[in-house]
Amino acid sequence: MKHYFFIVLIIFISVGLAGCSDNDAVTLRKFPYPYKAALTICSDIDGTESIGKFLEIQGLLNTTRETTYGRGLGLDIGNTFWFYNQQYELHKRRLAGDSVPDVFFSGEVDFGISIFDGTSDTLSTYAPVILALIRAGYLDCLHTYGNFGVGGFTRDLATRSVEFLANESLKVDVWINHGGNENEQKVGDAPWYLGDNQETDVYHTDLTIPTGIKFLWRGQRTHCIGQNGEFSVVNLAKRFYEYIQDLFYTAQRFPHDNKLVHVYELDDGQKVFEFVRFINPWGKYSIPREPYIIHQLGPKQVDELIENHGYLVFYTHLGVNQRPPFLHDSTIDALRYIKKRFDQDDLLVTTTSKLLNYYVHHKYLFWRTKQRAESLFVIIDSIANEVEGSFVPDANDLQGMTFYIPKDLTTMLMVNGQPVSYIRNSRDEAGRESISIPWQTLTFPNVGCLK
Ligand SMILES: [Zn+2]
Repeated sequence: MKHYFFIVLIIFISVGLAGCSDNDAVTLRKFPYPYKAALTICSDIDGTESIGKFLEIQGLLNTTRETTYGRGLGLDIGNTFWFYNQQYELHKRRLAGDSVPDVFFSGEVDFGISIFDGTSDTLSTYAPVILALIRAGYLDCLHTYGNFGVGGFTRDLATRSVEFLANESLKVDVWINHGGNENEQKVGDAPWYLGDNQETDVYHTDLTIPTGIKFLWRGQRTHCIGQNGEFSVVNLAKRFYEYIQDLFYTAQRFPHDNKLVHVYELDDGQKVFEFVRFINPWGKYSIPREPYIIHQLGPKQVDELIENHGYLVFYTHLGVNQRPPFLHDSTIDALRYIKKRFDQDDLLVTTTSKLLNYYVHHKYLFWRTKQRAESLFVIIDSIANEVEGSFVPDANDLQGMTFYIPKDLTTMLMVNGQPVSYIRNSRDEAGRESISIPWQTLTFPNVGCLK
């Protein structure tokens, strides 16, 4: 008798739970259909001393052509850029026999590519390639205005760059701090990050932020695989470890909630979204450089990211490897595995800017539903947050947004009173049908000199 009672109880609970998990509810899917997680490779431009090397690497990442490394991956993986390189400028002048000051730069000598030749107002010979790639969305992050020693950066150089962007009608929305303490233009709370400090000569964020910069990398690195993912004991342990580590690092304060993005107020009061970059799984291979990529973001980490349903902005320097062919076989293996999981519809791979924009627009999307007879209306009202303000989004702002919808209802997706075209998706792993605003992929421009 007792036995039967438990069976009846279990059936009762099951029916009750099925009733609660309302398969007819309209909900916003976490990632664009059909993906389960999202990744970007966010590489700093340091050490990329020639445009040929840069294009060989991007050729593998972005095109499906035959490259030095075999068939290209055709993925939307971006990169960063500089306007100036003072270290290269000093080198050139030294070679020309000028007497030049001995300026300190931390780390290795870096003659990385830049839009302007050195610190001059003359464009570098390959500037058109950089501009074409900014325009096409592949160079999506400004890695500060450039590579400078103490006293090298000036507000005038920022003014010239901002005017240049405006004249070229170019917009970049991600700023990534670069260099040691000598690069005074950095932005954030460390006492030697002076770019957003109004009382200094190198203050520039009043010029820089209004160009469209919304996202800032101050310097936070994490070992947690998957931000905003599902709960994991391992990630919790890593958060605790990072919290303890930061008690001994007092120059900057970082949040430890394993969220991808936080609203951050600059010294001058302007607000941006700051984001965290993943460096490695457990503290080994703590230098984010090309030769270590297989250990930092190998198949095991990629699988964990997908299982965790998280976001990941991977921190590396693809160009910091001086010897041809510049990428190790192990790196190419790691990249091909990422491509495989992308092709399997598991992992969205996109640029840093597109990933961050998707994340914040998804997070701060205001929408509702209305049902009339057999018709369902999904109505998007606005995107509203402390950084972007409140606005009615367009298809570009909404790309990838996916709504689970009930079967058997005619669905209309509306923005600002107008119907928006969408794609109807078949069931995903949750067993639910959905509609998506199409995700827009990038088109690699014809920049020549690719193998
Ligand atoms: Zn850098």
